[in-house]
Amino acid sequence: AKEAGKNNCQFYAKGMSASAVNFLLLENDLRRGIDQNQLVLHYQPQVDLATGKLIGVEALVRWQHPERGMVSPMHFIPLAEETGLIVPLGDWVLKEACHQQQSWLGSDLDVPKMAVNLSTRQFRQKDFPGKVAMVLRDTGLPAQYLELEITESCAMEHASETINQLNQLNQMGLSLSIDDFGTGYSSLAYLKRFPIDKLKIDSSFIHDIPLDQNDAAIARSIIGLAHNMQLTVVAEGVEQEQQVQWLRENHCDQVQGFLFAKPMSATNFKAHFNAAGEF
Ligand code: C2E
Ligand code: CA
Ligand code: CA
Ligand code: CA
Repeated sequence: AKEAGKNNCQFYAKGMSASAVNFLLLENDLRRGIDQNQLVLHYQPQVDLATGKLIGVEALVRWQHPERGMVSPMHFIPLAEETGLIVPLGDWVLKEACHQQQSWLGSDLDVPKMAVNLSTRQFRQKDFPGKVAMVLRDTGLPAQYLELEITESCAMEHASETINQLNQLNQMGLSLSIDDFGTGYSSLAYLKRFPIDKLKIDSSFIHDIPLDQNDAAIARSIIGLAHNMQLTVVAEGVEQEQQVQWLRENHCDQVQGFLFAKPMSATNFKAHFNAAGEF
């Protein structure tokens, strides 16, 4: 296997699997993608269940790959997280989202809040609160229009550091929410010490309600827990009218899902929102 022209074989012989090679190619691609402005944000509405009013949007990143087309974050966020590219990527997302929200504030579109997802590595940076402050200052966005989402598993992983980080962010006046709630292992002792505003019920518990009794019981418990802690609760992945009805009966505050709207580009969002007025 050492003959000339067998470089590929040597490459693999050094212990690299095909998927590891693929990973490297993708990493370079993503690095270039970030530099060449191939990332875009789409925005998905969050709606108040009682009034049908828009209460905010969640920014969701997409990668407009020159050959592969629109790539889902599920396919590159884990890679970005593993390679550290999530830091520049996350910086870009935060800045772009704040910039967009600031420009909506100055328009006739009434978008009350912009929610941005944080990855673990991004959130754990020592200077992260300082970075957020700088982005708010640079874009001119008042902190009250920004919400940051961290996943339950991220929040609970180093819970005492989480408290510290969340306290700094809370003091800046922005909102904080716990994403994918119910999928991690929450310590309620910590949860009550987090200065958070919102729990987002993971879509896996919403999917089969009202039929699945266990999921319904879990969703009901999360709603109760949130309300007992004076938190707002949002159901994610709402696709059916029956789910809305159940969520309304069970006093969930807000909903987000394809039934109301899919994530949209800023341009489409403006068109959709102007036509509908409310959801
Ligand atoms: P997430 O934060 O839980 O976001 C919700 C996901 O559910 C989004 O997928 C959204 O498009 C999708 N979704 C919303 N409503 C429905 C529905 O009714 N049915 C179904 N089946 N799906 C629905 P998306 O945009 O593919 O994002 C996937 C995940 O990638 C996000 O899950 C989040 O964990 C991550 N992600 C997306 N954007 C960012 C980002 O800017 N930064 C970081 N760190 N992670 C991001
Ligand atoms: Ca989220
Ligand atoms: Ca607060
Ligand atoms: Ca989620």
